[in-house]
Amino acid sequence: MNRIRVKRLLKKEKQPALFGGKYRFSPYMACGHQCTYCDGRYEKYHVEGDFDRDIVVRENAPELLEQELPRLREHGPVCISSGISDPYQPAEKHLEITRQCAEILSRFDHPTIIHTKSSLVLRDIDYWEKVHRKSAFTLMISLTMTDDGIRDRLEPGASPVEDRLKAIGEFRRRGMNAGILAMPFIPFLTDSTRQIGEFLAALNSVGAQFAIPGLLTLKKGRQKDYFLKELGKMYPHLSMKMSDLYSNEDYYGNPPSGILNSFYRTVEALWSENRMSDLVPHSVYQGQFSLYDEISILLRDMKTLYRKRGINISKLKIASQKYTLWLDKRRTYYARRRNLSYSALEEEIRILALSGELERIINNRKLSEFLCRVINGEVLNYRTLKLK
Ligand code: SF4
Repeated sequence: MNRIRVKRLLKKEKQPALFGGKYRFSPYMACGHQCTYCDGRYEKYHVEGDFDRDIVVRENAPELLEQELPRLREHGPVCISSGISDPYQPAEKHLEITRQCAEILSRFDHPTIIHTKSSLVLRDIDYWEKVHRKSAFTLMISLTMTDDGIRDRLEPGASPVEDRLKAIGEFRRRGMNAGILAMPFIPFLTDSTRQIGEFLAALNSVGAQFAIPGLLTLKKGRQKDYFLKELGKMYPHLSMKMSDLYSNEDYYGNPPSGILNSFYRTVEALWSENRMSDLVPHSVYQGQFSLYDEISILLRDMKTLYRKRGINISKLKIASQKYTLWLDKRRTYYARRRNLSYSALEEEIRILALSGELERIINNRKLSEFLCRVINGEVLNYRTLKLK
């Protein structure tokens, strides 16, 4: 274990979304959950040493969080996560760095998001409930299967399936948001129609509000080599098949597009059959971001939702680009004037909507009327595509 002190903690996300929040930090680097497929091993993430054991602890994270939170100029969720560690990994049990951060966050009014594969998050549920009462708390548990035997081989240090489902159920029972990062499904091991169907039924039984799906990526080098070596020990009959499937050496580690498309077709059918959302619903993220970010996220999701239903999105795309251009300019203006509050930018949007000026900016009357209703607090149902 390597304890370090860092100079800054919170990083602002370029594209806010409930998946990654508006600000992000991680108390740790590397991870004792030891997932065999973890892409934190990829060389370009610069995690040195034994990924499963040489955990880097940012021991002054709570101190910095307390200093930086009051200085944040824009409203938006703080996400405790990183692709290369888990805030509730085994070391957290005795170090309690995430717990100290939870206590600090419970005294502020920033929405918070946690990504984890551990039911240890339940230890701090009282703090998270306080955060939720003041603003909003969203738990995102990473899980893709119901078979705990497979889970034990692929994710030996993470919590059993049952415990992760119970955590989701308990957060939902207490009225908090909770959903699933359903990634990565492993080809030949956890991606059959039967397995995914059972998995979605289990998620529905505990009240998960969404499940964001993704297929295994294997990036060339340490991550891919480690996974194929471990898979060969556990499932020798799959070794060659997997190696062939990922022999295309895609930069992002994806399998060939035909495989990817077929996976997403299966996912789409099963998600729809099980009435599960593959995006974080508007009803979950509404109010967690500044209004101008909420509109950006909504426009992005609408493009995805409409495209999937075969609806022509060319006009939506143009209007959305115009909105982004306008917002970028206004953001630059506010960023350069530190005496201005970003709440004035929210107010600007409300005034633009009321005065009809928004229609001129995005050059789309229908969308502008739609956004006015969103600004007035209506929520888009991602299943019916209707506002309420
Ligand atoms: S929990 Fe996440 S960061 Fe930790 S080993 Fe597993 S995939 Fe990697």
